[in-house]
Amino acid sequence: AVAQSVGNVTIEEPLVKRKNLDVAAEFEKSKPKNAANFVVIGHVDAGKSTLMGRLLYDLKVVDQRTLDKYRKEAERIGKASFALAWVLDQGTEERNRGVTIDIAMNKFETKTTSFTILDAPGHRDFIPNMIAGASQADFAVLVIDASTGNFESGLKGQTKEHALLVRSMGVQRIVIAVNKLDTVQWSRDRFDEISQQISAFLTSAGFLAKNLAFVPCAGLTGDNIVRKAQDPHASWYTGAPLISLLESSEPVTRALEKPLRMTVDDIFRGGVQNPLSVSGRLDAGNVQIGDTVVIMPASQTATIRGLEVDSESSDWAVAGQNVVLHLADIEAKYLKSGDVVCPPSAPIRCVTSFTVKILAFEHITPMHCEVHKGRLHAPGRVTKLVAQLDKASGAAVKGKKPRLIKPGSVAKVLVEVDDPIPLEQGGKVILRAGGETIGAGLVE
Ligand code: GDP
Repeated sequence: AVAQSVGNVTIEEPLVKRKNLDVAAEFEKSKPKNAANFVVIGHVDAGKSTLMGRLLYDLKVVDQRTLDKYRKEAERIGKASFALAWVLDQGTEERNRGVTIDIAMNKFETKTTSFTILDAPGHRDFIPNMIAGASQADFAVLVIDASTGNFESGLKGQTKEHALLVRSMGVQRIVIAVNKLDTVQWSRDRFDEISQQISAFLTSAGFLAKNLAFVPCAGLTGDNIVRKAQDPHASWYTGAPLISLLESSEPVTRALEKPLRMTVDDIFRGGVQNPLSVSGRLDAGNVQIGDTVVIMPASQTATIRGLEVDSESSDWAVAGQNVVLHLADIEAKYLKSGDVVCPPSAPIRCVTSFTVKILAFEHITPMHCEVHKGRLHAPGRVTKLVAQLDKASGAAVKGKKPRLIKPGSVAKVLVEVDDPIPLEQGGKVILRAGGETIGAGLVE
């Protein structure tokens, strides 16, 4: 029985009954699809939006009528080729400017996998959005413009920067779409040359060769995206189209048996049936109706009185799912965005200082900064530059202690915050100062 005291009265009634489900077994029975989140990176104009639009169109996520509407509108403003790109970014203001503004979130499914595209536009100002996307990504799709001259300028531009960025956020696998091959008559030499250069760069940045997959393609024409290339010049390629490479990304290991971790995105109060609820993604573990949980950092317990998975009510939820938890036995004042829902037996640690392996975007010295972890923002400061690290190997560079971390380099720094924040090893944090991202990386 759950004992709950309201004022002076103690209610001894069980509020909710726990069915004692074996959640892992229930999950297996539900024949889950593999779930994969990916982020799209690459130089501006590499064809990222077009390629993703084509993917959604060919998978019939977007219908012909919608695309025709976009085509007409695009022709009207003299940018006919943009219609496919608009499938992803539907705001008119964005269209008029011809760039993608925010992280567009798009979901689509194949027989085996349900995907979420965390779109990361190539515009320079949008780096903070990309970091947010990368911090949730299971893998990245790197789009390379293979047309003559553009590959070379892209390499000097954002291609390398983006690759290092996703690496610093813990992304290990990259699918490389060598795009716009129609502009070079599907030259195999060009594809081989680009693949070889990108591969050399990515392995030097710390990616393992076995985690890289290359596909020659053209988003605009749809060759090797969902269907095989139809251009006879492309017949030399006998490998799989892009979609198969995305599907064959290793199943995301769902950390079902690990202690429950759910980072709270939003809090809803005042519902008639459910007066207090929280939403977020289950990062690890599982949860079922009737469970007692503890909210960190407030250290307050609550009972799960109901839950929803992808907006449908359910008895249980597992890591990887987007959920709403309906709570009882707790007051709203103990809840805020960025809190972590945990089991009472293994609550997340709350810390006021931690070391982080960081990729610097701006100069970093001991300085004030804001620590961002998902929705959580906490005032703090970099108190010590522990070591400069080798970008590729991650090993400490011998020599004097660094006094300044330069943009583009990787370092280990000590960070302190005023109030304890829930954080554990491998947690992804972003440091910002003066409205700019100064660095991003993983907690040691
Ligand atoms: P983003 O900035 O990376 O999102 O690039 P966009 O998708 O906006 O594409 C930039 C330009 O490249 C547009 O004019 C596209 O029509 C063009 N483009 C994209 N993919 C291809 C392709 O496969 N072949 C050709 N020839 N042009 C393409």
